[in-house]
Formats: sequence, structure tokens, C-alpha cells
Amino acid sequence: MSPLLLSNRLPRALLLLLSLGAFSIVATRISFRQRGSRPRPVTAVRSVSVAPSVPARPRPILSLSRDTAQRLVHGTRADHAANMSGFLHALQLLGTNATVVDHASGKAHKLLDIVVGRPDGSEIIGSMPIFRTRYGARFRSYRKSLLSEVQADSQAHAGQALAVLGALGVPLTYPIDVGDRSTETIDAIYRDMIANFCMKGELYWDAEAIIRYGPPNRTWTNKFGEIFSFDDLAEELLSREYDNGSCGGTHRLRCLAILIDAHARHSLVSKPIVADIVRHMAGTVEHLVTTQDPSGCWEIDWWYSLSSKRPAHGRATPTALGRLVATGHHVEWLLLLAAELRPSRDTLARAGSWLVSELQARVSDPTWVAENYCPVVHATRAVLLLGEASAEQLE
Ligand SMILES: [Zn+2]
Ligand SMILES: [Zn+2]
Repeated sequence: MSPLLLSNRLPRALLLLLSLGAFSIVATRISFRQRGSRPRPVTAVRSVSVAPSVPARPRPILSLSRDTAQRLVHGTRADHAANMSGFLHALQLLGTNATVVDHASGKAHKLLDIVVGRPDGSEIIGSMPIFRTRYGARFRSYRKSLLSEVQADSQAHAGQALAVLGALGVPLTYPIDVGDRSTETIDAIYRDMIANFCMKGELYWDAEAIIRYGPPNRTWTNKFGEIFSFDDLAEELLSREYDNGSCGGTHRLRCLAILIDAHARHSLVSKPIVADIVRHMAGTVEHLVTTQDPSGCWEIDWWYSLSSKRPAHGRATPTALGRLVATGHHVEWLLLLAAELRPSRDTLARAGSWLVSELQARVSDPTWVAENYCPVVHATRAVLLLGEASAEQLE
């Protein structure tokens, strides 16, 4: 991975390192007291305006009318989701109380029921999405070798469902249905994932699930007795290329962002590794700030000038869909960063405005939304986060 040069972002990154405990300093409190000054006598009582004791909330990064937000959420509603990955995306956007209407029966199903395999919910995807294993239970994952099959019951990436449930704060004690009348909970899925954990392949969703559900434990042990730590995980994530993984390599950055956020609460990573992550994130943000298109978007190969192994065919041909994938995903992980590391409000607002105009032009077309459900959901979610709007309140 090529080293990144830092400029004006460095002092802010240093501030963050201090707040994360990567360095320790001793602060001395000094208090001043004015001697010999007496209050002047009050000669008249006047009405005075008193400043509010609570500081005014900063305005949202993106000004988003309720009407626009509502139109985007309605255009991205859950009944456009055609498979497990779609339902997981809808769940992330709409929250754990959201429902989806089955077009065939006209019946409404709770999205969370569909995802955790409750009998009522599994009607909609035709089979049970979870099966029992030696170490607990597992979500079915999409298999490329079975392209001819529908596989509506399968998550797109190993660990995807567990990562989404963790991000939504669904506890490990939440009941799931594995189809054999046993009483199992999400913990069975977590145990199976940990037992089979290895630091290879498409790691990002398993990694997010461990960061969400693992702390305060700082290590985990797989079925071969191999012990892993958050330091090991961070080193693996930092060692990978910028374009590694789906969605333009943005899931690796999302993992690092949630790891540094969880570290601030649970102290998961050693000081030198925290410094490495902060340096890497500050450099990546700096790169995104300088390469943002004047319209506000980023290209799908946003990493091109950073990567040590550039594709022989040169840069990818820019497409609206590639920009939607990259820009929606980037805004989501950038908003997970501490204020000291985030790009300016202006950079984020321009990305948000670009996303709004792209979505507004397309979300009235249900076929386009259904075909591009993943990037549409990420982009809608990014817009709502920037505008501080909640899909649950808009539904
Ligand atoms: Zn993605
Ligand atoms: Zn996605």
C-alpha cells in the first residue's frame, strides 16, 4: 500500500490520536481568581436577554426538505427488494420495525422476521434462510456456481446478515428460526462465524460483526485454536489494496472506521496500530477531498492514483451507476469518522447534493430501483444521514 502524504489534515489527526489515547499527556488545570475587585452597585433593573444555556444544534450538513426525503424513501421502499441481500439493505435503511408487502398475497411482513427466518417471514422468500451447523447456525450465502438458481434466501456476502443486525443494534439474544423447532438466538450465528473465522478472502462483513458483537473481548478463537486480536484484524485491513472487495473497495474503509469508533469506547487496538489507522484514514480522506469531482461525486476507481498496482487497461470508463456506488458508500463511512478526521461540511454537502439529484432523476422508475437496489439504498441512506432525517419517521 503506498504511503500517503498528509498536509493540513495532520494536526486534526494528531488531535484525534490524543483523544484516542495513542499518546498520553498530563494536563494541568490552572484557575485564575481576580483579587480586590468589587461588584459595582446596581442602580437600575433592566430587562436583559439571556442566551440559551444549551448551545444551538449545528444545522444538518445537507438541507433536505421533508418532501424530498419522503420521495426518496418511498422510491426505495422494501418491496423493491427481491432477495435476502435486498431485504438486508432495506432493513438497514428502514429500521427494525419496517414491513414489506408481499405482492402475491397482499400481506405485510416484518423485514426483521424475514431476515431471521421466522415462519411468517420466510414465506416471502420461499425457504429458510438459516441452517444448523456443528458450531451453531449459519445464513445461506449466495453461490456463484449456482447462477441458474434464484437463491432468494441467500445473503450476497458471507457475514452480511450478521453485520447488518449488529449495525442495527439487534442483540445476540434475539431469537432466530433454524427450522428445527429449537430455540436459537443470533448468538448461534456468531458462534459459527467465529469457529470458522480466518483472515482471508471477503473478510469485511465478518469483521464488522466481530467489531459490533465482540467487545469488550479483545480476542477470538476459531475451531483450530487460532487466536485473533483486533490488532491482527487492523493490520490485515491496512495491508490490503484500496480496490480490494466489492463496491469500489469502500467496505475495507467502513471496517476501519467502525473499528476506530469502537476502539474509542472499548480500547481494542494498541497505540501504534491506532496511529497507523488514523494516518491511513487521514490520508485517504485527503485524497478524496482533492479528487472529488466538481459535481460532488467520486468515480468507482477513486483509488486509481493511490494504488500500487494500477490496472493495465487504465482508468475505468465513468458511469452514473459506478459514481452512485462509490459516492453513496464513501459518504456512509466518512460519517462514521470522528469530527477531526472527517472532510469539511462543504465536501460532504456537495456529495449529498449530487446523490439527491441522481436519485431524484431515477427513483420513480421501480425497475431501475429493483435492479440497482444495493447502490440505491446506500445512496438514500447517505442522503438521510447528511440531512439528519430518519426513514422510520418518513415511512
Ligand atoms: Zn457495498
Ligand atoms: Zn450494499
